[in-house]
Amino acid sequence: MKYFVRTYGCQMNVADSNEMSRHLRAHGLVETLDQDDASVILVNTCTVRQHAEDRAFSEIGRLKKWKAKRPGRKVVVTGCAAERTKEYLEDRFPFIDLVVGAKSIENFEQMAQRLLDRRETDEELDYAVPAIDDKVAAFVTIMRGCNYSCTYCIVPSVRGREIYHSMDQILGEVRDRVREGSREITLLGQTVNSYRHEQYRFAGLLRAVAAEDGVDRVRFISPHPYYMNDRVIEAMAEVPEICEGLHLPVQSGSNTMLKAMARNYTREQYVMLIEKMRRAMPEMALSTDIIVGFPGETEEEFQQTLSLIEELHFDWGFIFKYSTREGTPAAQLESYPEQLIEERHQRCLELMDRIALDRRLRLVGTTQDVLVEADNFGRTCANYKVHINGREAQARQGAALRNIAPGEEVSVRITNAHRATLEGELQDGNVTFENFRQEDTAGAHSRER
Ligand code: SAM
Ligand code: SF4
Repeated sequence: MKYFVRTYGCQMNVADSNEMSRHLRAHGLVETLDQDDASVILVNTCTVRQHAEDRAFSEIGRLKKWKAKRPGRKVVVTGCAAERTKEYLEDRFPFIDLVVGAKSIENFEQMAQRLLDRRETDEELDYAVPAIDDKVAAFVTIMRGCNYSCTYCIVPSVRGREIYHSMDQILGEVRDRVREGSREITLLGQTVNSYRHEQYRFAGLLRAVAAEDGVDRVRFISPHPYYMNDRVIEAMAEVPEICEGLHLPVQSGSNTMLKAMARNYTREQYVMLIEKMRRAMPEMALSTDIIVGFPGETEEEFQQTLSLIEELHFDWGFIFKYSTREGTPAAQLESYPEQLIEERHQRCLELMDRIALDRRLRLVGTTQDVLVEADNFGRTCANYKVHINGREAQARQGAALRNIAPGEEVSVRITNAHRATLEGELQDGNVTFENFRQEDTAGAHSRER
């Protein structure tokens, strides 16, 4: 029996989908990338913004026909929108077989087992050896839920309060992922650096994960500025495996807006924190989340967000249009017309694109260590995406190219930059010319350069 997964939303959802996939595979199911081939479809939903929820609901609507095409097909809907709108989903889409809200993901295994045991199909179970997750870069969830109450955000109500996984569980999962071929581990949580379990805190966890055999890189997402303390900064600066790339959501550059959003820091505190981190890690890459068009945001307050982007030179940013989420404190406030929010969104994106390109252009001519994730694609430790070029041309010229496999770290000379990616060529040391006669080798090398 085959299953197909569609995931909406953040990395947390991707990690949840991976975890649910592992349970399905342990149950003998096999993943397919073709939904027509599947007997079970799992739609993992997001509700952070209305747009994400609408997309998931229209996909679920289309599954009525998909389900009718073959007896025994099952539709499973999971995640944050499933948590928020469980009853509505069951009313509007009565063909759904199982709804698993975000707070119940940890019970998915038992719930799915009950569903699959109720088999009405005569399909043979395919007891193929469960496929393994062969991703070079894996997510490991270290905590669920959020104890904050940012006034725009639905997450605390759909995911509940913070629950932390134990150090043993986390390290066990890290070892599982390494055994399956992962080299890079991204620790996940809504405010990932607020982690606390028994005597352990986030900085200690980071060091412990980095010390695991086979772990070459450790990242984390999303930290909250409040918990970015000196111990975390020291761990990042001291331990080579902990990547010097930081995604630190700021949301706004205006203190009035930060207060209205109930973020518990000011613009000045955020700037001081970044300056401190850049002193400790001059090459650190920085990305962020920003919301534009929060209720009451004046043009001047919006411009403070633009000036913060100029001041801090973010390497990348996710710019979100404010979306009213029912039940949140900000939903009581009058929101702006879509046109105004869209206009600010465009202005912010344009600026972020320009700054992001500047940040990447300064890397042209440098050599970077790139962890290969897929064909000719990988990322630097600071988290810049790199396309590795020129290999087809080298192959055409007769060079015997060393195969670069996912999981391998290679040296790449950066030759070009775009707003979201870098391009580069493998350093000569990565190219072998053993097909060439000995006396041709020097010529081949110079030709390739
Ligand atoms: N917990 C993380 C944090 O606080 O940084 C982020 C979690 S949230 C899923 C990801 C991003 O979505 C937030 O950083 C915020 O920028 C954005 N977001 C959350 N609620 C939103 C809303 N109602 N409208 C627009 N963007 C929103
Ligand atoms: Fe939402 Fe704020 Fe919690 Fe992040 S910290 S999940 S934005 S409430």
